[in-house]
Amino acid sequence: MAVAEPKDISLTTFENLGLAEPLLAALEAEGYRAPTPIQEKAIPLLLKGQDMIGIAQTGTGKTAAFVLPILDELADVNKKPNSKTCRALIIAPTRELASQIAENVTRYGQQVRHSSAVVVGGVKPGGQVRKLARGVDVLVATPGRLLDHVQSGALRLDETTTVVLDEADQMLDMGFIPSIRKIMARLPKDRQTLLFSATMPKQIKSLAADFLDDPAEVSVASESKPVERIEQSVIECAR
Ligand code: AMP
Repeated sequence: MAVAEPKDISLTTFENLGLAEPLLAALEAEGYRAPTPIQEKAIPLLLKGQDMIGIAQTGTGKTAAFVLPILDELADVNKKPNSKTCRALIIAPTRELASQIAENVTRYGQQVRHSSAVVVGGVKPGGQVRKLARGVDVLVATPGRLLDHVQSGALRLDETTTVVLDEADQMLDMGFIPSIRKIMARLPKDRQTLLFSATMPKQIKSLAADFLDDPAEVSVASESKPVERIEQSVIECAR
């Protein structure tokens, strides 16, 4: 499926945001000319290590906004991650979203030496356990299967320095907040925490208050207009 380029592109360049050279090269290869508003606002703060609440929907370029700073940090690391640990953890509500995020990590990180893995439900856990045993730099996971691996001892989270909760409001709707709280409790206190959500219901605000440290709030307006290139019509039919 072809995805349209986000409409709001700023005049700032990715270079001005402070991203490392291998990432700039990957972005050029992607054909991205300039950061989107969420990228322009979030990336400089994230590169400084700040916690963040990002209010943005899919289509705003939010995935690159959190993936690029993670890869930027890895560009400076020469050591492999320890067995059964991950350096950065990205938690997403669905398998499809987790796979898409992992694909972005691979694309943007083509010139940064790193390892990544996806841990989702609906498949046998054996292959995931073997990957985790080697240790991974970036782990993308759905909450249920992630918690299974943590509870079975296949993964420990005490060396994770960055965690991203993506589409937090959808995780709430799917009943994942108790699992998220159990996972967050196992992370080291000294870490960077990012929470992205399209909306901010009460339970997500309280999750943020419990697990984020003085977060910056970055929000981009979302348009809910129908896509212009799709012609829409109604056909009434008799029952
Ligand atoms: P997301 O909101 O993360 O799902 O991204 C939506 C789409 O925008 C994806 O297909 C990205 O590849 C694309 N994208 C992200 N950032 C940029 C950018 N700065 N310029 C052009 N396209 C982008």
